[in-house]
Amino acid sequence: MNKRTVKDIDVYDKKVLVRVDFNVPIVDGKITDDNRIVEAMQTINYLLEKGASVILMSHLGRPEGKPDPKYSLKLVSERLQELLPNNKVIMATDVTGKDAKAKAKDLKMGEVLLLENLRFDAREEENDKDFCKELADLAEVYVNDAFGTAHRKHASTYGVAKLLPNAIGFLIEKELNIICGAIENPKRPFVGILGGAKVADKIGIIDSLLNTVDTLIIGGGMAYTFMYALGYKVGKSLLDQENVETAKQLINKANEKGVNFLLPVDYVVTPSIDDTTNYKNTKDQNVDDDYMGVDIGKKSIKLFAKAIKKAHTVIWNGPLGVFEKKEFAVGTYAIAKQLTKVKGTTIIGGGDSASAVINMGLANKMTHISTGGGASLKLFEGKVLPGVDVIDNLA
Ligand code: AMP
Repeated sequence: MNKRTVKDIDVYDKKVLVRVDFNVPIVDGKITDDNRIVEAMQTINYLLEKGASVILMSHLGRPEGKPDPKYSLKLVSERLQELLPNNKVIMATDVTGKDAKAKAKDLKMGEVLLLENLRFDAREEENDKDFCKELADLAEVYVNDAFGTAHRKHASTYGVAKLLPNAIGFLIEKELNIICGAIENPKRPFVGILGGAKVADKIGIIDSLLNTVDTLIIGGGMAYTFMYALGYKVGKSLLDQENVETAKQLINKANEKGVNFLLPVDYVVTPSIDDTTNYKNTKDQNVDDDYMGVDIGKKSIKLFAKAIKKAHTVIWNGPLGVFEKKEFAVGTYAIAKQLTKVKGTTIIGGGDSASAVINMGLANKMTHISTGGGASLKLFEGKVLPGVDVIDNLA
């Protein structure tokens, strides 16, 4: 990787504007998982140690372009202060308004200023020129360490980078090194596992993974569109009629490329997604008319586990069933467990599969759990992330 990192820039006595991903879950006024804050600390601590004053900016939730106290970063600033007992953490009451400007101007070496939620201003997601300039005017150097939003072309992830000397932070550097390293130069057999609900979202990634993997395992709601394309009955399961033809083409491509394309051979089915009593394992690959597939079945778990067992590199994105309900989470958990036995690299894309692995207490048994669902998918697909692309290369 030849992007400039925080280690390559002089930050002494400078105000450094850092895009972080503090989009943490908050329930009943409490942060329920502070992992994203913790993951950003390496870059923040490094900058403070090197004599910078640090201005942090992040989004939280979807406040739709206007201030909404429900999405304030106030709680995050309090957690940040706990993590930085020896540094003063100041919270701005706006994003680039009077308060942020005044507090940024007065910020001293070793101090941290957290701007209010970027998405309180509609210009953030529009990558608005004036907003980029207002952000850039707060500081002298820009660092992007928000891997979770690096696939977005927003003011704070993209536009502002063009206006200041710039670099990526340690978290983005780590994500790129691990994910790109594994995908560009995989130890084989290389197995990809894709699940989740929507085929449409994953067509690009399936298409590109078929060029590199040895085995591609498809589970979750999107499997049924492939099963339908192959002529099986899918009952009331998720089906994307518009992409049946595409599914056929992807199956053909897998055959042409000699990729072991593994679909479920049985499922857990239930009369409706909320019915956690009357579910059953199917005998074969068909789903009766009154049922819907909500998890991979026992035989499928065995089949998938056998392929994973042989792997030296595994990447995984998307749950294999409706894992939010414990009755339908068996397949997802069995596959997670199988991954812990892999003698090689295991990479979990962010989002639901990451939550499943973390909830099972298996996080430390994986090589890497990405902090970005959308961003890691883009990397799996071999795409460049705009928030990284915009950062200068090393001279
Ligand atoms: P995605 O955002 O596309 O990765 O989808 C994640 C969602 O897919 C989760 O909320 C799962 O509950 C859902 N999902 C997985 N398998 C199924 C299925 N068989 N039927 C319906 N939804 C599913």
